[in-house]
Amino acid sequence: MTTLFACYLAVFASRLGLRRLNLRHLQRRGHTVPPGFEAAVDAQQLARSREYTLANARVDLAESLVGSAVLLGFLFGGGLELYDRWVLALVPGPVLAGVLFLLGLHWAQTLLGVPFGLTRTFGVEARYGFNRTTPRLWLADLAKSELVGVVLLSILAGAILGLLQASPRWWWLWAWGFFAGFSVLMLYLSPQFIEPLFFHFEPVQAPDLERRIRDLADRAGLGVSRVLQVDASRRSGHSNATFSGIGRVKRIVLFDTLLTQMAPDEVLAVVAHEMGHWKLHHMARRLGFALLGALAAFWVAHLLLTWSGLPGLVGAEQLSTHARLLVLSVIGSLARFPLTPLSSGLSRRHERQADRYATDLTGAPRSLASALVKLGTENLANLHPHPLYAWFYFSHPPLSGRVAALEGPAAVPDPCPPESRGHNRNRPPSPGP
Ligand SMILES: [Zn+2]
Repeated sequence: MTTLFACYLAVFASRLGLRRLNLRHLQRRGHTVPPGFEAAVDAQQLARSREYTLANARVDLAESLVGSAVLLGFLFGGGLELYDRWVLALVPGPVLAGVLFLLGLHWAQTLLGVPFGLTRTFGVEARYGFNRTTPRLWLADLAKSELVGVVLLSILAGAILGLLQASPRWWWLWAWGFFAGFSVLMLYLSPQFIEPLFFHFEPVQAPDLERRIRDLADRAGLGVSRVLQVDASRRSGHSNATFSGIGRVKRIVLFDTLLTQMAPDEVLAVVAHEMGHWKLHHMARRLGFALLGALAAFWVAHLLLTWSGLPGLVGAEQLSTHARLLVLSVIGSLARFPLTPLSSGLSRRHERQADRYATDLTGAPRSLASALVKLGTENLANLHPHPLYAWFYFSHPPLSGRVAALEGPAAVPDPCPPESRGHNRNRPPSPGP
């Protein structure tokens, strides 16, 4: 067994351990109603949310077991070396071969994910009344996201491999520059050209609410024209609100499902929270954090790329440059795992800041609390995450603690939707409020 194999198993076991801890906690504590949820949740609703969380966890576990088994078999069973040789023999030129090599792996990953995606959407989501996607729409979404994925992956991989050929000493810096520029450009292009392929965005369709959002935006010093609603209900009954973009492309998007579930005061509370993200430049900060990490990753990849011991880590004798990059990306994902709490912690900090901003702006912490309770109950969120699991993974502070803080005497504001569960194509892009 190579060191890399052992590291993979160690990370995999840690993930399983955290997941098990979280689910056992839910099974033990999931029968009690958290403070602040008494009016909205009864025993039956708690049981439903518990079963829904467990059903999703079972699909996630199956996907992660199958995915890991296939990846380990491919990497350490000789598949990588064979595939590498086959692609090199098929296509002339290292850049073209590299792009094809990565596209092939991307397609394999997509195919592998199809049965799990179908199970989530037409199994779990349908059983709990969330799914509204038809098989036809699901297929159309898959085809479109594949098309987008292939174009973006080809551009990124082609450019990075081309830079590697052109400047073997400094490619990592050029490649990082290209990656940074590409990421920023996508923030501008995605709302214009990619998201409309899947969703229809329009100004909030409720005159009174729209006027109140405009007043709120005036007080916050923001342009209301970029508070939009999206037809998320075409695909799913889940509700959410998101904030995205930097500079002049910042915008707030409310799911139409959220608008039908919440009272106007609650919608305003959620909008105010999103405005907090906007005013406090959270997207730019997160992007800066991610790009710093990417710079370090490119530099380390440069240092290790020509290391003679690299192929031996997966039991291979010889690997092309792009196959070496693949091995490095696996190493990178393992190295990132222990750093997960850093980015989760930064995100939770931003959520708390946006919450404080929202309460200052609206002066209505109770509306935020009831909006949170609705988000949690309508989406069947896990109201009892294990504290260690939440500390490690959660991008938002656990719901029950936030509601309790809002309902408490020294109300510290907070809105934000439940943690996203699994990967669901039925939800609009970008993470929740
Ligand atoms: Zn938020």
